[in-house]
Amino acid sequence: MKVGCVKEIKNNEYRVGMTPDNVKSYADAGHTVYIERDAGIGSGFTTEEYEKAGAVILDTPKEVWDTCEMMIKVKEPLESEYSYFRKDLILYTYLHLAADRPLTDAMLSSGIRGVAYETLIERNGSIPLLSPMSQIAGRLSIQEGAKYLEKPFGGSGVLLSGVPGTPKAKVVILGAGSVGTNACKIAVGMGADVTIMDINLERLAYLDDIFGARIQTLYSTPSNIQSQLAQADLVIGSVLIPGKAAPKLIKKEYLKDMKPGSLIVDVAVDQGGCCETTRVTYHDAPTFEVDGVVHYCVGNMPGAVPRTSTIALTNATLKYGLQIAGKGLEKACLDNDVIFSGINTYDGFSTCKNVSDSYGMDY
Ligand code: NAD
Repeated sequence: MKVGCVKEIKNNEYRVGMTPDNVKSYADAGHTVYIERDAGIGSGFTTEEYEKAGAVILDTPKEVWDTCEMMIKVKEPLESEYSYFRKDLILYTYLHLAADRPLTDAMLSSGIRGVAYETLIERNGSIPLLSPMSQIAGRLSIQEGAKYLEKPFGGSGVLLSGVPGTPKAKVVILGAGSVGTNACKIAVGMGADVTIMDINLERLAYLDDIFGARIQTLYSTPSNIQSQLAQADLVIGSVLIPGKAAPKLIKKEYLKDMKPGSLIVDVAVDQGGCCETTRVTYHDAPTFEVDGVVHYCVGNMPGAVPRTSTIALTNATLKYGLQIAGKGLEKACLDNDVIFSGINTYDGFSTCKNVSDSYGMDY
């Protein structure tokens, strides 16, 4: 198959859909790979590396879109890319169609076959093409938290680990899933005093087994949350109820009991956030303050570390991408119904129930 990859054009997006290593895997499997010049430069992959791996380099995105039979990207296409859609093209990328009616309409009217990373569900219920980004966001939440607790960045001036003779910073993590577990790992590693909360007791038992006495697990109730927040230096919001807006666990009224300069990193901001005072921010101005509490609410945290994010994402996407390119989309789905769960649009039909339900469309 002719496989293509273009440079991402979304604001501040430096990830890329294929690494040079991926190009070699596709080329070894007999595919021809077309890469837009400088597509990987934001993630530190040079055009020469792609060429060496066997890619054909094209100068413009149009040439790549028009030449390939399967386009591998990271972010959902933007409006300026809709004109490249056509019926026989496979698009393999994050789509988030339920939040983007114009893109949904453009994909349906063109007939393009869209395979969305975020809806591809494995048999055990995991979302393998989403979880690498949750791992990264979870780890970054503590790294960014440590930075924005520094006084020059607006924080209270507390060092996460403390030093002998001083208190450690208290980190409270709301939600013990992928993001929360990864945040917990880094916070423990940095020597903070960590409490992690969830309503899923199995998750709490699992973390208790892994981390033992190094963390405190706590059932998530409004009163437990309120009392923990009053003691916290850093709060990580990492709750998720799949397919729904995040529950507003941190009420505005709780902020007045929090320490001045304490920090809330609301990772769940992409689902609306779990704090009533959350609003989306971007990497160029990531924080704002409400009632003396600093809020960090970047909706695209992995974008801060594109090198790691690209490698982590493509490690996960390669396996399914090779199946689609090798067998064609239909045969790949027949042989592996996990891939079927990723198809959102096909020949003008909306084929993902959640997307169809969002717009009251037939499914
Ligand atoms: P996950 O499903 O693995 O974990 C969510 C956890 O929240 C679950 O353990 C669930 O039991 C728990 N939960 C639900 N209701 C709760 C409550 N009332 N109190 C406490 N815990 C509760 O999800 P995840 O992969 O960890 O993702 C968490 C959020 O982070 C999602 O909204 C995801 O989209 C978001 N995310 C954001 C970024 C970013 O850049 N901002 C990046 C990756 C993921």
